[in-house]
Amino acid sequence: MGDPWTRRFAAAALMLLLAAAARAAPAPPSSIATLPKEAGSPPAAAVIAGAYADAFRPLAQPLLRGDDARAVWYRVQLGADWSAAGAPLLVVSGAVRTGLVVYLPPGYVARAVTPYDAGLDPRFSRQALVFELPRNLRAQQPIYLRVGAPAQSQPLRVCIADYDTYQAEDLDHVRISTAISAAQAAMLAVILCFWIVLRDRVFLYFLGYAGFQVVYQMAASGELYALPGAGALAPLGYHPGQFAALMAALLSINFIIEFADLRRAVPRLARLLGWARWPYAALALALWLPPLHPDAWLPNTANGLLAITTPLALLAAWRAWRRGSRQAGFFLISWLPLLALTVLRVLQLIVGLPLPAWLAYGFPFSMAYAAVVITVGLADRTLQARRERDQAHRLAEYDPLTGVLNRRAVLTRLRVAYADARQSRRPLGLLFLDLDHFKRINDTHGHAAGDDCLIAVAGAIQAELRELDWLGRYGGEEFLVVLPDAAALTARIVAERIRLRATELRVAADGEELHLTVSIGIALLDDATPTPEALIEHADIALYRAKAQGRNRVVQYLPGEVIDAATLARHG
Ligand code: GH3
Ligand code: MG
Ligand code: MG
Repeated sequence: MGDPWTRRFAAAALMLLLAAAARAAPAPPSSIATLPKEAGSPPAAAVIAGAYADAFRPLAQPLLRGDDARAVWYRVQLGADWSAAGAPLLVVSGAVRTGLVVYLPPGYVARAVTPYDAGLDPRFSRQALVFELPRNLRAQQPIYLRVGAPAQSQPLRVCIADYDTYQAEDLDHVRISTAISAAQAAMLAVILCFWIVLRDRVFLYFLGYAGFQVVYQMAASGELYALPGAGALAPLGYHPGQFAALMAALLSINFIIEFADLRRAVPRLARLLGWARWPYAALALALWLPPLHPDAWLPNTANGLLAITTPLALLAAWRAWRRGSRQAGFFLISWLPLLALTVLRVLQLIVGLPLPAWLAYGFPFSMAYAAVVITVGLADRTLQARRERDQAHRLAEYDPLTGVLNRRAVLTRLRVAYADARQSRRPLGLLFLDLDHFKRINDTHGHAAGDDCLIAVAGAIQAELRELDWLGRYGGEEFLVVLPDAAALTARIVAERIRLRATELRVAADGEELHLTVSIGIALLDDATPTPEALIEHADIALYRAKAQGRNRVVQYLPGEVIDAATLARHG
């Protein structure tokens, strides 16, 4: 597994990300300060008038965290008057979840913003909230931001950037996210086609799971709200994103159970995972019921649930993989970058591990990568299903002992050949072949030795046939050979060759070499053969005569011949 083209895709995406990281330009010098707890949460008018100018305390890092108990004021100021050619921009990046209000010079009009606004500046992507500032911005002109309670789940980063530099960076961002989205969209289209053709519901689960993931991603980045006609989504705030995340989690469980065949490989874990779907469904519903105040508890509950079901799904996939589910292996490989990313994020939160900026693309990249790997896994699953079907086909048509066609299959071939021959007025020969004194071999050397003889004889017959002939086991030690296009002479020659080859066979048993002979009856299609069954009957009658005449011989059916009473009595 880990086939070359997924590896190539991963390498290309990584290089794209590294190139983007290399472009990140340093922001012009500016400083950030905040009002400490003692100052409380004064009214905007007083802050803007400068009444609290001395109370602001500088921050070491340009991060807005907010506070669970109060709205927190931040002040951003240039180190020197703005002198660059392009306008300065205030850039707030990160997942804005609670109320953010900005007060910009010169007017300082309060402006509440969220990434869900339909009316954000359309000149920029939504990777950050961007506000154009006056070109003549001076060092003494502060910008104020007010972050409402509760605190941000992840700190927001704030800076003042130069228009031209920021726009170049923003374009890079758009290039990368477009590439990632395009990869995802292509995979989804491929899976949709798979589903349309194959109608296997595992494809539908994957479509739902990956589709909701894309919606979640677009909601988180804000791009969902920039789509044409998405203005109606703005009042729903972040709920569409949360809903998509919950649905993606729920469908991913359906998907992994089905895809990796967990019910068969790890039935108990599969049942546990099955139950874990219900809380997700309940949360997805609760999200839309305001009386339950879902915003207060739902995000943490959902994260807790994810923290339980994700290791559970990975454990189940791991076990299933160890028990031979290839698809579980694909699933695990598809999750590797996501796992690495999670570990890095946890390290960042716990020990303050500094992470490069391009890791912001880690999540969408991991999703696109997973979509590619899973698509390959789905194709592999389809291939496996086809192999199993072919195998079932073989089992249904072939005799397990000798490997030649079984009775039903050879009769089908005979009927087709009969109809063809009738229609095209071409000859058709049929051989009915029976081992001589086979009971003796069984009685003297055992059933296993008898089986070896049957295998040897089948091989001997097959060796004398052409591509278009059909050999089948008709009964215990009786074989039928259908010879399309064979008239009397050909049929006779073939039958003689088979008979001779059989006499040359040496089958080892009990340290002895067994010799075999066969008797063969030939029937040829003529006007007195109204059905394929009649052809078999004629060959059978000829075979009886071969036995009666002393065995180890080839006998051709004579028109009008019937079995005489003596032969019939001898053969039952
Ligand atoms: P004849 O020359 O008259 O055909 O004598 P025969 O002993 O071959 O007679 P008959 O056709 O009645 O016997 C068939 C024997 O083939 C009976 C059965 O024990 C044996 N037989 C049938 N199917 C199998 C099989 O799958 N394996 C083995 N080892 N023996 C089989
Ligand atoms: Mg027999
Ligand atoms: Mg026999």
